[in-house]
Amino acid sequence: MAPSGAFHKKGVNTLSENKLLEKMLDLPEFVVTDLKHNEHDVRVYVEKKEKPCLCPACGVMDPKLRVHSAREQEVRDKNIQGKRVGLMFKRRRYKCMECSATFYELSDSISPKSRLTNRFREYIAEQSKRRSFIELERELDISNVTIREIFLEEVENLQCGLDLETPSIIGIDEIHIQREGKHRKQAWALICNGNDRTVMDLLPNRNKPTIIDYFKNLKNPYNVEVVTMDMWEPYKDAVYQALPNAIIVIDKFHVVKMANDALNTLRKSYKDKLGQKKNKALKKDRYVLLKREHDLRPLPDIAFRDSWFNEIPELKVAYELKENLFKIYDAKTKNQARMLFNNWKVSIPDDMKEFKDVAATIENWYTEIFNYFDCRVTNAFVEGINSTIRAIEKQGRGYAFEVLRAKVMYFINHKVDKPSYGSGTFSNMMMRGSWNDVPKDYGVQFEAIIKAINEGLL
Ligand SMILES: [Zn+2]
Repeated sequence: MAPSGAFHKKGVNTLSENKLLEKMLDLPEFVVTDLKHNEHDVRVYVEKKEKPCLCPACGVMDPKLRVHSAREQEVRDKNIQGKRVGLMFKRRRYKCMECSATFYELSDSISPKSRLTNRFREYIAEQSKRRSFIELERELDISNVTIREIFLEEVENLQCGLDLETPSIIGIDEIHIQREGKHRKQAWALICNGNDRTVMDLLPNRNKPTIIDYFKNLKNPYNVEVVTMDMWEPYKDAVYQALPNAIIVIDKFHVVKMANDALNTLRKSYKDKLGQKKNKALKKDRYVLLKREHDLRPLPDIAFRDSWFNEIPELKVAYELKENLFKIYDAKTKNQARMLFNNWKVSIPDDMKEFKDVAATIENWYTEIFNYFDCRVTNAFVEGINSTIRAIEKQGRGYAFEVLRAKVMYFINHKVDKPSYGSGTFSNMMMRGSWNDVPKDYGVQFEAIIKAINEGLL
């Protein structure tokens, strides 16, 4: 308990006052011997009412006991009227006259070395599922570390594995989050169900063995027909090894992003040529380069853009390369897309290494990128992943992986198919077999995660 103003002795004298306090405390094993309080804290001094009825050393029932010594254990309990409550438990040490052993008495409400009462611990465990640790820390004045410890203990006690349906479309992407207490960001893989727009799991890294292990443990790995992903070799290897019926489609967003990145790098490379002032202006105007041409307003966007093209003719070339890469995705057929790509590739000037690199990457992932034209995985699904990731990342808070995963996977409502009304009746069950009526779990909806973030759960 933080030291604060001086304690005032309440002066618990009369029997009736004692009884009243004990009633309020609602821990029947204790008598209240004293009470002190100031504006922030209440300290309640308690002792056990009864002697132990058993010697833990010799096992004799109702042994003759003598008080040997006592120590004061200070434990936090639930707040009363906004004040922090400290129980000052005088825990006695007894000597057993039957066997001479000494032992401390036990309490139902306070574990031997705990600094919290059991009921306060349970309260924190419950609250930590639904509220952010920071908010709880503020309300209870209990450290973040303790809250997390209690939360994770609770999760361990759940011991319910996730038993999710396997969709035909899976999406993998990653969340980059600052790991709690560390400066570097860390990438966690997010596995999504593309049929039902849900999160299926969070994995602590994006290494091949981790992903393979996840895929192999799916309820039905043969169900998966399409996996959408970023250009990340370990994902690809994992899919080919563990999902025998799946093709890979590289997410369109990640492909066209390469063009924007290349354009941006080139834009920065004109820094010396432009001088400080103009370079600053170009940086400010960069949106007219990065936005799609059809999203620009004639004034002032296109006017700005064209004046920059006059200033740096190479910028116009780079800009058109960017636009033309996007246009490949407008192709109606796979063959048309391939042709557009070939034309695009030969149009790159030899000295534009940034775009030559993009072309090389596309060739490396040729099959998986052009698979898109056989199976146009809807943008809505990918956008759902992206906005979920953005929402989590935007919190800008350090997360411990285990905490974020548990909060997302265990404490946000899942999309569940309940058996239809009437199908669960006894006669139906007898006819169809009860296995039909087990609810199906599809994971956590993107919208539910975003809502939970907005409500302060994560
Ligand atoms: Zn004994």
